Amino acid sequence: MVELKTDTSIEAMRAAGRVVAQALTAVREAAAVGVSLLELDEVAHKVLREAGATSPFLGYRPSFAPTAFPAVLCASVNDAIVHGIPTDYRLRDGDLLSADFGALLNGWAGDSAISFTVGTPRPEDVHLIETSERALAAGIEAAVVGNRIGDIAHAIGTVCRDAGYGIPQDFGGHGIGRHMHEDPGVPNEGRPGRGMPLRHGMVIAIEPMLIAGGIDDYHAAPDGWTLRTNDGSRAAHSEHTVAITEEGPRILTVL
Ligand code: MG
Ligand code: MG
Repeated sequence: MVELKTDTSIEAMRAAGRVVAQALTAVREAAAVGVSLLELDEVAHKVLREAGATSPFLGYRPSFAPTAFPAVLCASVNDAIVHGIPTDYRLRDGDLLSADFGALLNGWAGDSAISFTVGTPRPEDVHLIETSERALAAGIEAAVVGNRIGDIAHAIGTVCRDAGYGIPQDFGGHGIGRHMHEDPGVPNEGRPGRGMPLRHGMVIAIEPMLIAGGIDDYHAAPDGWTLRTNDGSRAAHSEHTVAITEEGPRILTVL
């Protein structure tokens, strides 16, 4: 069931979204060659604590997961697509990091992800990340009253496929509100004009995930969480929490 949010609730979600943006900004600033993923998790955790917010990731255990998620940040490096568990791995020159982060503030959730390179970037990674951000922007642009979920999915999928990238089929965006994951699902590929009509007050997380090698296939790493590409190629992930309003899409996870 899709819960429409009041304008007051959307303002409360905007506050949660700002905390998410602050944490991801801090993570990006702290990320450098030699810095460990656990150190980045602590950077994000500090932002949460100072904001009086909590983590919807920490202790999260969806049906596919063998263990509760042990951190506040998902840190997915290179061929890891999403759900990377922060470890003592230290970032190396040219690494591509996808950082996914959520916050709960005053009972409302925010969810956002960024991908970026550390040290000297590889041109192909820059293109992959830029395409991921373009796919997100196209999805947000389609998130207007009068459109349907399929229009968002089609907009995202078209950008990814036109660039020759793969799309993991089992993961995508979602409704968000009191809980991080609510209805409806927001796929990263689909047919225009299909699916649920978009209405004022729907709040969704839109999150394209791209596989550089052009395949759609991935597997879970031995930790049961981290999803890695089957061909070893790199992946990128971009996400914003977006409120659909009569005035147009409103991105909630910005500073
Ligand atoms: Mg996320
Ligand atoms: Mg999400």
